[in-house]
Amino acid sequence: MDTRFFVIWMEEITAAVRAGRDHLTRLDAAIGDADHGTNLDRGFAAVAEALAARPPDTPGGVLVLAGSTLIRKVGGASGPLYGTAFREMGKALGDAADVSAADLASALEAGVAGVRRLGGAEEGDKTMVDALAPAARAMARGVGGGGDPEVAFAAAAAAAEEGAKATVPLVARKGRASYLGARSTGHEDPGAASTALIVGALRAVAARRSPRPKSRP
Ligand SMILES: [Mg+2]
Repeated sequence: MDTRFFVIWMEEITAAVRAGRDHLTRLDAAIGDADHGTNLDRGFAAVAEALAARPPDTPGGVLVLAGSTLIRKVGGASGPLYGTAFREMGKALGDAADVSAADLASALEAGVAGVRRLGGAEEGDKTMVDALAPAARAMARGVGGGGDPEVAFAAAAAAAEEGAKATVPLVARKGRASYLGARSTGHEDPGAASTALIVGALRAVAARRSPRPKSRP
């Protein structure tokens, strides 16, 4: 996957976040401060602008610029957390002009580790980690045996979606929702939901890139 693939991934995320903005904000209204959709929408619009203004020439450069922009443009906890995820992924990819699905799987694990270090959240705390960590595991499993990258991306996206849905019954132990204590149960975590959108965008881009021949009936 080359630089262009990663730029298209960022564009796909920008579109998905724009489309999901009001839904994410409604989720955040239930257990937070009702700004997650608008914050991420603003952040990824700024990422698109930054990529157009200063086009990076490596996949890692795309992710580092995206992460730095999110840290700068998105307030609250989510800017630094999402920004760190992308920056750590970008740093893990280094200066390579082309990266493999296995490289991206390792980078995703570095992203999870960065988010855990910064936020201190573990799986089950009802945060973005509940979507990101299973996605990274599914991706690593998918590429582990030299499998089809597109299948690995699809497995990662499905794992992120399942992880996000699985936050509904949880009681939040990190972030603003944790102030609600037991009242945070019964709502999907907005950070896990947006993380599922981000990983889902990766699946969409990978699927478009390698169209399968349609089997005839
Ligand atoms: Mg919020």
